[in-house]
Amino acid sequence: MKIPEEIPLEKKQAKQIRIAIIEGYTAHARSFPWKETQDPYKIWLSEIILQQTRTEQGLPYYLKITQKYPDIPSLAKAKEEPFLKDWEGLGYYSRARNMLAAARYMMEHHQGTFPNTYEEILALKGVGPYTAAAIASFAFGLRYPVVDGNVLRLFSRLFGITAPVDVASTVRAIRYIACTLMDDKTDPAIFNQAIMDLGASVCTPKQPKCTICPVRKYCRAYRDQLIDLLPVKSKTLKKKSLYYNYFYIPGHSGTFALTQRDSTAFWKKMYQFPLLEDNGKYSTISYLQKRISKEWNYLPNHLQPIAEEKQTLSHRHIHARLFVLDNFPPQNWQDNWLHTSVDDLTRLPLPKLMKTLIGRHLQIP
Ligand code: SF4
Repeated sequence: MKIPEEIPLEKKQAKQIRIAIIEGYTAHARSFPWKETQDPYKIWLSEIILQQTRTEQGLPYYLKITQKYPDIPSLAKAKEEPFLKDWEGLGYYSRARNMLAAARYMMEHHQGTFPNTYEEILALKGVGPYTAAAIASFAFGLRYPVVDGNVLRLFSRLFGITAPVDVASTVRAIRYIACTLMDDKTDPAIFNQAIMDLGASVCTPKQPKCTICPVRKYCRAYRDQLIDLLPVKSKTLKKKSLYYNYFYIPGHSGTFALTQRDSTAFWKKMYQFPLLEDNGKYSTISYLQKRISKEWNYLPNHLQPIAEEKQTLSHRHIHARLFVLDNFPPQNWQDNWLHTSVDDLTRLPLPKLMKTLIGRHLQIP
């Protein structure tokens, strides 16, 4: 097992690799609004939005949010529910909540301005070492290399690192290599943009584009045909499967039932149809009928799912069936069910899975 400290990185070769990375980037750099600004607030917004989100998908959200909340004070004043609605479709809603908390923290502790040291940026809620390094280098020109999953994969292949990249010692060592490559004459912002871009768009997890890679001639994985084997991970995350039965239940005057999720699990406080969750796999229809009868005091004669959808989150696969309970007795309406109109859907934050069920499978007028 080769660990990064064993990799000889001579000054001359470090310089060659650095030049190749930066030239490769500047020749094909794509322009995005967050690359054209040094405003730390906007850079922070873009970095948080782009965590777990593709650039093309994140761009309209970046434009909408910077227009609606142009600075720290306006974001700090935002209420959680409308902000989650603005965030709807991006997923990973804890990012949005952390941003609100961080904006309020900056109002309280930094007079509404963005902190300008790596340590203070790192102290903001929702900001880890990668995001702190990105903001510190892009907004303030500080020499902190960005090391995320893409960069770990790139460096693991480039330097033939066979130690697992998901253990702290390897991450530390790769950060050290990145520091060595980013010498004090290099613009940290350009260097970081370049390694992020190379890792994300050229040295991709599957079928990396080696033929156009600017560092191919230095790449040990390419030379030793190890590309498919690197990076090594010590453990592969096993995702848990959840089985949800959602119920579309019409109420009075064209309304239908929605409930608010609690604040303990994922999709905190977002809205969804009334739900009965199955354990391990979908239950049979007759069992589900009995559960409806027990929980909501109503026995539907006929029950068939009108749709099935699946959504994958970072730690879970959510399997969802959608049922319609047309003749639900009004007197059995549950206390925690909201009578929701179609107009309410424009203001209540919904998980993507709910939007899919509503948009694809229900003719809500
Ligand atoms: Fe990645 Fe291929 Fe470039 Fe090596 S040559 S760094 S494997 S894209």
